[in-house]
Amino acid sequence: LASRDFHPDNTVIKIKDVEIGGDQLVVMGGPCAVESPEQIDLIARLVKAAGGQVLRGGAFKPRTGPYSFQGVGVEGLEMMAEAGRKHGLLTITEVMTPEYVDICAEHADILQVGTRNMQNFDLLRKLGTIQTPVLLKRGFSATYDEFLNAAEYILAGGNPNVMLCERGIRTFETYTRNTLDLSAVPVLQSLSHLPVIADPSHGTGRRELVEPMCRASVAAGADGLIIEMHNDPDNSMTGDGVQSLFPDQFANLLVDLEKLAEVL
Ligand code: PEP
Ligand code: MN
Repeated sequence: LASRDFHPDNTVIKIKDVEIGGDQLVVMGGPCAVESPEQIDLIARLVKAAGGQVLRGGAFKPRTGPYSFQGVGVEGLEMMAEAGRKHGLLTITEVMTPEYVDICAEHADILQVGTRNMQNFDLLRKLGTIQTPVLLKRGFSATYDEFLNAAEYILAGGNPNVMLCERGIRTFETYTRNTLDLSAVPVLQSLSHLPVIADPSHGTGRRELVEPMCRASVAAGADGLIIEMHNDPDNSMTGDGVQSLFPDQFANLLVDLEKLAEVL
């Protein structure tokens, strides 16, 4: 079902007035984690003002260590939903377990499957039983074939609204947090009809690399970008402040991307 062979036309996922996989470049921006109502409201206003379409933010965070901040949970879903409504943005948030799929889907427009859960087959199967769009992140050690098979689980269950996200893979390089595999964009678009989103924030782990790699992702043909932006990155509650853009950087980047999209 994920293969281009049996589905020559691109899948376009329409959510309210936003089309993902069509002509429009879709920008999802926001903090790594929802921290407070004030924080997510402020960031939502900045995302909207810059021209973004989707507010990102994790209420449930998949942290490497059990003692790190794990997210604010269900209350965070409510804070995000409220900020999205107020500022006219769609919302995307990560869901980590099958049990939380329904409550996350009640609050968010798009559900994110994180890199660590790309092969959480029970989660994928559960996501196949609903119609809420899913942004499936590539496992950091997954081949394209494994990635597309993970998407297949959701599609096979009956949910056609799947987008693929390249968020960097693990290589021998340690300067960057991950290696953003930009070949994934044209490769996945040739093997599959699903929209492809790039995540240069997790793909590089370094703020100064996010802007050039966003431009490169668009040049490579990405249908959208998911970008971490924080009003006060140095004091963010996850370690991802180092890769989060400042609000003015985010706004300037979106102006550049608009120009780039015009010449492509
Ligand atoms: C995130 O989007 O904040 C996140 C945890 O992403 P990933 O699963 O790609 O590490
Ligand atoms: Mn993050």
